[in-house]
Amino acid sequence: MKPDHQFGARRVYYNNFAAHLLNAYNPNMLYPDLPYRWSDADWRGLIEMIAAFGFNVFEFWLVPRLFCRNALESELGREFTRQLNVVIEHAHKRDVKVEMLCSLATVGPDWRTFCPNVKAEWEELRFLWSAWAQRFPELDIAGIFPGDPGGCSRNGCTAETYIDKSVEIAGLIKEKLPRAEIEFHTWGPPFFAWGIIQGPPGWQGEFAQADQHTAWVGNRQRTERSMIHLLKRLPDFPEPTSVAINLGFNADGDPKEGEDGRPWAREIAKSHRILTWNFSLTEGENAIVPHFRFERLFAQRRKEREAAPYSGGICFTMTPLLNQLSLYEAAHSFTNPDADWRELAGDFFEAIFGPAGRDAVDFLPLFEVVPDWGNYAELDLSREEYHARMTRFVSLLEDLKGSEGNRGMVDASLSPDGSHSAFGASAAPTLPLHPSPEAYRQEVLFFAGLVADLTAPAPDIDRLRQRYWDRVYAIYDQLPEHVDPRPHAATDRLIQFFQEKMRNTTTRQ
Ligand SMILES: [Zn+2]
Repeated sequence: MKPDHQFGARRVYYNNFAAHLLNAYNPNMLYPDLPYRWSDADWRGLIEMIAAFGFNVFEFWLVPRLFCRNALESELGREFTRQLNVVIEHAHKRDVKVEMLCSLATVGPDWRTFCPNVKAEWEELRFLWSAWAQRFPELDIAGIFPGDPGGCSRNGCTAETYIDKSVEIAGLIKEKLPRAEIEFHTWGPPFFAWGIIQGPPGWQGEFAQADQHTAWVGNRQRTERSMIHLLKRLPDFPEPTSVAINLGFNADGDPKEGEDGRPWAREIAKSHRILTWNFSLTEGENAIVPHFRFERLFAQRRKEREAAPYSGGICFTMTPLLNQLSLYEAAHSFTNPDADWRELAGDFFEAIFGPAGRDAVDFLPLFEVVPDWGNYAELDLSREEYHARMTRFVSLLEDLKGSEGNRGMVDASLSPDGSHSAFGASAAPTLPLHPSPEAYRQEVLFFAGLVADLTAPAPDIDRLRQRYWDRVYAIYDQLPEHVDPRPHAATDRLIQFFQEKMRNTTTRQ
């Protein structure tokens, strides 16, 4: 096997900064006048950090808001282009490749999916793919995915349409960017939405939240037909092309009966590099907390290693300024799936805060409690015990003030051009953290304080909800309602979880 096809060889940092996932810990790439914009130095600091963690691909989503003629011609589109080219240039200095991910056919701020079987719409899609490819002349990988949002079932479109049209777009990209690789994504049940998504009467491809669940209703016959078609068409993709395929054709990548992706993955791997794309492992897309779902992450990696000759995959984040630990663990889950994830978390905290930082590891699971996509941990603690532990964690984090940064962790944002290197010649290994270790301590302390207050006797729930909202999602106070208004729902779920917990405890008393 080629070295770059070995398990975990390709470790992809995937930052989803789409408009429905904006928050204080994610770059705002879409609203120049609103908060959470990142400077070029911020981006270089981020690249320093993820390269030191072990990632070798930086992946961004060219969101539908940008994938339209209007954005191409706007100041927003020009600035996005300029800054991503800065990212690409710096990533290459750290041997990190850059991948642009884009839905085959979903266009514009209202997430409308164009139909490849409508001539004018297909011509527009070809134009957009061509124009954006030319915006990033040094791009390493172009990823084509079926949707979410997106996918067409109008005018006879099926999963096979998506495959055939992706072959055509891949050829177009190769014309514009001869050195670029293609990554072809099977996302969904598989091939999210194509041929199965239902729309309202008179549907012209507009996004309809109420119908999104139909994009996941696949069946065995459709899976077999479309995967056989993919195997037939794979040789028509330009070399080299990788295929993203999970162990199972469902949101958790679970290879259960009727949704098993493994036989197809093995078949594809005979001729093409295969990768996974399991979003649920690192963060999911809802609850924003300091994540700690590493037992499942490492167990899944070991299953991937056994299942098929995977060469790596995506590690998803929508909170890179909060979940640095999760990213650190995710990169290691590919390089060493047998590692002890508790030890790794201890190493991470010791690098930031010195040996006393290791004590933080006992408290971190207390954040990963909200039942959510990818989090199935159940914590059986009384409210009183919960509150007592979180209060101790607050004290620990306060005591750690001033000790950060004097171990192996350095502030990546201080040296944006990257004069330091990870595990360099000095006695103490350095591991760049972005932003600063002190900023990280303050964020974890915010969450510890919030949860300590949520589990206190008689908390003021409305005030605490507002405190969370203002810290995490304040940007939405300045935005019109999004087509996918999930921040409100995510906040409600988090607050309701603790309310419920307290109610249950009260009942027992
Ligand atoms: Zn169509």
